[in-house]
Amino acid sequence: MQVFDMIINGKPVRAGSTFDVVNPATGEVFARVQAGDASHVDQAVAAARAAFPGWSRTPDAERKRLMHALGAALEAHMPELMELVTKEAGKPLGGLNGVGSGMEVGGAIAWTHVTADLELPVEVIQDNDDARIEVHRKPLGVVGSITPWNWPLMIAIWHVIPALRAGNTVVIKPSGMTPTATIRFVELANAILPPGVLNIVTGESGVGSAIAKHPDINKIVFTGSTPTGKNIMQNAAGNLKRLTLELGGNDAGIVLPDVDPKAIAPKLFGVGFHNNGQTCACLKRLYVHDSIYEEVCAELARIAKETVVGDGLVEGTQLGPVQNKAQMDFVQELVEDACAHGARILSGGKARSGGGFFFEPTVIADAKDGMRVVDEEQFGPVLPVIRYSDIEEVIARANDNENGLGGSIWSKDRAKAAELALRLECGTAWVNEHGAVQPDAPFGGVKQSGLGVEFGRYGLEEYTSIQTLKIMKA
Ligand code: NAD
Repeated sequence: MQVFDMIINGKPVRAGSTFDVVNPATGEVFARVQAGDASHVDQAVAAARAAFPGWSRTPDAERKRLMHALGAALEAHMPELMELVTKEAGKPLGGLNGVGSGMEVGGAIAWTHVTADLELPVEVIQDNDDARIEVHRKPLGVVGSITPWNWPLMIAIWHVIPALRAGNTVVIKPSGMTPTATIRFVELANAILPPGVLNIVTGESGVGSAIAKHPDINKIVFTGSTPTGKNIMQNAAGNLKRLTLELGGNDAGIVLPDVDPKAIAPKLFGVGFHNNGQTCACLKRLYVHDSIYEEVCAELARIAKETVVGDGLVEGTQLGPVQNKAQMDFVQELVEDACAHGARILSGGKARSGGGFFFEPTVIADAKDGMRVVDEEQFGPVLPVIRYSDIEEVIARANDNENGLGGSIWSKDRAKAAELALRLECGTAWVNEHGAVQPDAPFGGVKQSGLGVEFGRYGLEEYTSIQTLKIMKA
């Protein structure tokens, strides 16, 4: 059994006790991780604080070089990291439409290199005979990063690399359900970075809230559920920490009547079901025009039944298990509630017997707003399909949700679709696509899906504060 240590100030640290990490494909323990607590958070923050002056004053070109070195280290260990991600998160090595741990580690590498090359240039606001005014971007200090279980390594990279690139030091706490790939990355990074620049504390009881409350942490970047995000915001108020919160989503997609149902169904299925629907910006509510409703539903159900569900380590698997039993039980509850309220289950609808947390890909027809499976974020392999006939009405229904992460319009008329997409209340709107993110385009939620954005220049700036410098000439 592999045992993973925390890394604080460049050194492995043990807590005296460990907790188990379960492979959701088998239900069996495959690794043990240190059960750290608030005292380890204190040690890690002290190390990060001590490393900050040196790291923040490291020449920009050197920080950039070291970020590229981190990308190269990820690449050199790609097979090992893929296997850890598949074992802890359940996603296949390959996966539906190539969305699996290969994409997760490949994405982590790509994000690292693109973010390494981002710049924070000094902006000159005024330069005349009176004065020169410059706007500088300065690092904040120590950043606390708290990550979820659905894309464990990718999201760790999304937090850590821009924070370091901008000159901050970091303490990261991964989800207790999926900590191993992140620990391995931090080990690899510590062979490259000065001690204390990147630290990891594992453990559930109170570690996250100790980070949120810590008076020596200057910013929290959190990806996870909306209730936890709200709790972090309250705890972070003590020293007015800066916050980036990437929270839950319940993304709507609207299919206009002009599409070809057969051609579009595989794309809709892919964006609704990849990673078993356990992606913040997966398509989670699908509104289809009455004139093509039955055809789209039938095609989605056909694809669902053909999808290969199994252990992600086995070649050819398209969807793995749900990451944990509680999440699988929640999905089952939503499906049963939909049935009780008159929805039709066209495929799946139940967990598989035997080991592991497998739930069959489930397409639900005659779903309606007001059903829990539509109104709540399912975060699992289930897609409710909702009928509509009036475009004005469906835009209002799509927007009638407290979340606002992503949304999409599907049509042959791209100009009309783009106009409608801009009316969706969400941080990213797609036309004939859903959930696709890239390292140079900002991504974040509106309403209760979060605060701030990640990626590209806008994302990098969130790890800085502005200092205005005014030099009088007269
Ligand atoms: P979660 O909120 O339960 O846990 C996320 C992390 O927060 C874990 O590391 C957990 O240990 C920690 N945590 C729990 N309670 C805490 C507290 N009181 N203080 C500080 N930290 C605490 O979320 P999850 O179930 O791991 O992830 C699923 C959720 O994440 C979904 O709602 C999904 O939509 C969301 N998500 C959002 C995005 C995005 O970019 N918007 C991306 C991925 C996932």
